[in-house]
Amino acid sequence: MSGSSLTIGLRIFGALKSDVLSVRLLPNERLNIEALSDRYKVSLSPLREALVKLSATGLVVATDRKGYRVAGLSRADLRDIGHTRRHLERAALTDAMKHGDDEWEANIAGALHVLSKATQFEAGRPVYSLDWEKRHKAFHRSLVIACGSPRLMTMWENIFDQGIRYRQIAQALGLDHGDSAAEHAELFDLVTARKVKPAIECMEAHVGVAVRILIDTMDEEMVKCAGRVAALSGADTGRNTEAFA
Ligand SMILES: [Zn+2]
Repeated sequence: MSGSSLTIGLRIFGALKSDVLSVRLLPNERLNIEALSDRYKVSLSPLREALVKLSATGLVVATDRKGYRVAGLSRADLRDIGHTRRHLERAALTDAMKHGDDEWEANIAGALHVLSKATQFEAGRPVYSLDWEKRHKAFHRSLVIACGSPRLMTMWENIFDQGIRYRQIAQALGLDHGDSAAEHAELFDLVTARKVKPAIECMEAHVGVAVRILIDTMDEEMVKCAGRVAALSGADTGRNTEAFA
């Protein structure tokens, strides 16, 4: 693959992923390749490649006749995402606290600072833009990156992205989606102090609370992706204009 086609492939993959995570493409929505070709101003070949790559992440699902649809939502799926992330992150965080050096600690401090600058509130509730989601992921990645395992990190990246979509949907529907600033500061303190057991407990509580809030506030309409979720089609809050790759 040439450099420019690689660049086009990455751009399309990023644009598609952004549109799925930010609910511009709705859960269960059938993906019409010709319509997507118009939408992203790209030929069919790189688009198909991007869809194959995105289906490996679980955010889109291959259907019969070589088609694709956006993955659906369910409470069971969300529970599984939380469960899997806790498992992966327990291993990664433990190894990172064993192997991380001073530079690792400094990067965590920087990522926490950058995250705190993006936190905004509307009517007393936090607003999670895709920019915030990027910084949030970067903060959590900075905690576990020193685990030293590329395979573990690939699995972690994938499961982390799955959770973003649920939070974005809950936010778009005006449902409670938590406020985690204090938890992030506590995680930073415990992880950089290498307090392994309290740090793991803090991480598990942080992930657990986020999942529980979303499960508690997910209503049947959201689960079925009907009614209120469908009404989001074409809605633009002005927050999610960035690519998330
Ligand atoms: Zn967090």
